[in-house]
Amino acid sequence: MNLMRTRFAPSPTGELHLGNARTALYAALLARSAGGVFLLRIEDTDAARSLLIHEKSLIADLHWLGLNWNEGPDCGGLHGPYRQSERTRHYAEFYARIEAEDRCYPCFCTEEELERHRVAQRAAGQPPRYPGTCARLSRAKIEGRHTTRPASLRLRVPPGLTLEFTDLVRGAQSFRSDDLGDFVIRRSDGSPAFLFANAVDDSLMGVTHVLRGADHLSNTPRQQLILAALGLPVPKYGHLSLILGTDGAPLSKRHGARSLRELREAGYLPEAVLNHLARLGHTYGETNPLTLDQLASAFSLTHLSHAPAHHDEGALRHWQRETLAIADWVRLWNWLPTEIHDLVPVADRELFIAAVRPNLLLPVDGLYWARIIYGENLEITPEARTVITATGVEFHGAALRILTEHGSDFKAFTNALKKATGTHGPTLFHPLRAALTGTLIGPELAKLWNLIPAAQIRQRLTAGI
Ligand code: GLU
Repeated sequence: MNLMRTRFAPSPTGELHLGNARTALYAALLARSAGGVFLLRIEDTDAARSLLIHEKSLIADLHWLGLNWNEGPDCGGLHGPYRQSERTRHYAEFYARIEAEDRCYPCFCTEEELERHRVAQRAAGQPPRYPGTCARLSRAKIEGRHTTRPASLRLRVPPGLTLEFTDLVRGAQSFRSDDLGDFVIRRSDGSPAFLFANAVDDSLMGVTHVLRGADHLSNTPRQQLILAALGLPVPKYGHLSLILGTDGAPLSKRHGARSLRELREAGYLPEAVLNHLARLGHTYGETNPLTLDQLASAFSLTHLSHAPAHHDEGALRHWQRETLAIADWVRLWNWLPTEIHDLVPVADRELFIAAVRPNLLLPVDGLYWARIIYGENLEITPEARTVITATGVEFHGAALRILTEHGSDFKAFTNALKKATGTHGPTLFHPLRAALTGTLIGPELAKLWNLIPAAQIRQRLTAGI
């Protein structure tokens, strides 16, 4: 059996966002699940919009997520080059072949002429497609026009065909060649059209399984026609469901899609993003965070969903919390903002992480708690102030007295305070938390007690009076 080969083929025209990161991840997981090869190909035929800095940043983002590839522009491989801008020679060879066989023809129509046709077709309720104006020009006409206008190249699409294929995700698909019309395979500036370069490269690079976004579904019959005309092997195609935002609109670069850079800079951990993406369109029985290897071994085309996936920040936050819950304390310490180094004594670091870990979502949360625990001027929320006032002077006075005797032992301290004030449970812990932290919710009080400097505890209880 042939080795499975999958690929991710981004255009380096912007940042990697959740949608295309998911495509990359699923293609990588599919290859890994089958012990196959995953390759990275840069689709930079749009010279004006493709930038090397985008290529570099998307490679860095993919690595950050934990993805690696066996072949690509940065690591080479047997099927290179892996940048389309460096593959012109391959495309030229195939254009020459089908031009010689008259399977394509030059088209001299201007954009205005094409637009007029489209408008007329739409008005007549027809799908817009090329009317075939240049399909039967004589050789003499073609030669004459070549001197005055640049020509694009169109594939001759045989009429009356039903084009069928089985999508790896969506099952049986059927298109009519009459709806496609003769389409452009080389632009009038000489650059390869996306449909052409993408299909040719998949085939030449031995890609066996293409996983990509559902927006490419209607490209597939065209690409199968191109490969058939060239006599090249056709990969299997699978189209992943769209990702919708909470407003029900598709995530796109322009609309609501968070880039991986934004998420990383906000402090999301790669495992959280990975686990979130892995479930945007694929079902996993396991509800714990999984490693890349675990995600791959449970990955299956049969678990991919046809229905649109919903990205909501709540789910991403869930995976962030799950990831934080099991991360090594040193990693969390290094993840927190460096301002925290001036606040938390070296000897307290591990205990500090142990105390605040359940209350962290992003690095700024660590700073927030460090300020509360170690800061000189405690801010008190209005709710906490209400509790402190309602509790009264006696409670705080008793607390201060007991502090001198039992200050180092939280349990002994609270037991004594309970006895002295007749409070217990929430009536004891609520006002104590309010006075010590200025808020009503937060890390376990017993853990905070060991971190807040003794002088601060005294001062905050005194302030309660
Ligand atoms: N460069 C194309 C894109 O970024 C690739 C599409 C495909 O995966 O075939 O949309």
